Amino acid sequence: MSELYEKLRPHIERQFALDCALTLYSWDNETLAPKDAMENTAKIIGTLSAQAYGALVNDEVRTLLASLREPKEFDVLSSVEQSIVKKLNKNFDRLEKIPANEYRAYSELTAKAGSIWAKAKTENDFAAFAPSLKEIVSYQKKFAAYTKKPEMSLYDAMLDENEEGILTRELDIFFEKIKETVVPLLKKVVAKNDTVNKDYNSRHFPVERQKEFCRFLAEYIGFDFNRGVMAESAHPFTTNLHNHDVRITNHFYENNLESAMFSVIHEGGHALYELGVDDALTLTPVGGGTSMGVHESQSRFYENILGRSEAFWKPLFGKLQENYPEVLSGVDLKDFIRGINKAEPGPIRTEADELTYPLHIIIRYEIEKMLMEDLISVDELPRVWNEKYKEYLGVTPKNDTEGVLQDVHWSGGAFGYFPSYAIGNAVAAQIYAYMHNEVNVKECLEKGNLIPIREYLREHIHCFGSTKNMNELLIAMTGEPLNAEYYTKYLTEKYTKLYLE
Ligand code: ZN
Repeated sequence: MSELYEKLRPHIERQFALDCALTLYSWDNETLAPKDAMENTAKIIGTLSAQAYGALVNDEVRTLLASLREPKEFDVLSSVEQSIVKKLNKNFDRLEKIPANEYRAYSELTAKAGSIWAKAKTENDFAAFAPSLKEIVSYQKKFAAYTKKPEMSLYDAMLDENEEGILTRELDIFFEKIKETVVPLLKKVVAKNDTVNKDYNSRHFPVERQKEFCRFLAEYIGFDFNRGVMAESAHPFTTNLHNHDVRITNHFYENNLESAMFSVIHEGGHALYELGVDDALTLTPVGGGTSMGVHESQSRFYENILGRSEAFWKPLFGKLQENYPEVLSGVDLKDFIRGINKAEPGPIRTEADELTYPLHIIIRYEIEKMLMEDLISVDELPRVWNEKYKEYLGVTPKNDTEGVLQDVHWSGGAFGYFPSYAIGNAVAAQIYAYMHNEVNVKECLEKGNLIPIREYLREHIHCFGSTKNMNELLIAMTGEPLNAEYYTKYLTEKYTKLYLE
């Protein structure tokens, strides 16, 4: 046992507890907190954030970490302790460069900006959100300048925060490959797609019955209600405190069958990741998913690769029809599968199908890059947004509500985050290509037994928490780092089989 590590332990526990409290506040803000609570809550969040910052960035921790970096001290640590120390060093180095007063002011700013954005979105009033966004962008640039390595651009530093080592240079190539495949494929598919009738989706689906079915789906894929809960929020999301408390939310629309169903499968995929983290790692700084890209790979694997396949619905479709006999009895499984995969260019990312989805991400990636390189200003965002939608998807948003104001991310300072969604799709396809060697996925789905699939993911990804990064996980599983080719191949094969043959 390392004496130094034992001295570090209470600091780690204190920071973890404060982070947990902050996470619970943000969960509460999105689910149950009253609307007028925000002003006061933002102050509490400011205080807690300052405490969490101080719990890590202080002289004692600095001295302990410096000593633990020495090989003779580091080598005697257990492998879990080594991972924790490495992660703390990384967090410490980053946080220490940001002045405490700026960190606190920024935490308060982003805590308030969420509700300012929500109101601006409801009222289609970009000008009301622009001042907050300008402040957030300016903080983001400042923080990136403090923390970036010399060879990095500001946007590189933001990307590195989300996906270690995947920078603009790699992403430019990655997105170029996706564009080359998706743009022509989409044209062909859309030309055939028009005949696909999915009128069933906008019929009347009583919310209570949707809730019941979604609960069933969550359990079906392996979500454990003894260690997780489900609530409602404006946009579905997942929150994790530790591997015995993982929470997902959903949003129900009376005239939309697919929305809540695929949301619960998506968030369920995120939740299975967090529930599968090893007991030795939970409650520590390496006890959560390793990156947003890997997280999205899990949610998208469940939502799209499994959840939108015919094999998944074979044992379930009868039950779905029974749940809504008035409206689904005349729809057959084949039509349903063609319906849930129908590609239709539209203005809203969260409603996008699997084929148009990456184009929504490319648009945001290009805009963020321009914004961080000072090629455009915040005030120009609505115009640039609409131009890009016209260029890539051939649609023009009706207003800013369904245009530049549609996503919550920027109000929380999440720049460099959107690419994670596309990375997640690609990682999911790469894992899927190799999983077949060990698990008969189709047979599992058709038999309604998803446990071997979850166990495979647990063994190769979930259990490691964040002790390995994305490429380390991929190389161990598939023998190679992230490779977009699996994703473009998957999309081409899937859409050709569904609509072009
Ligand atoms: Zn997600």
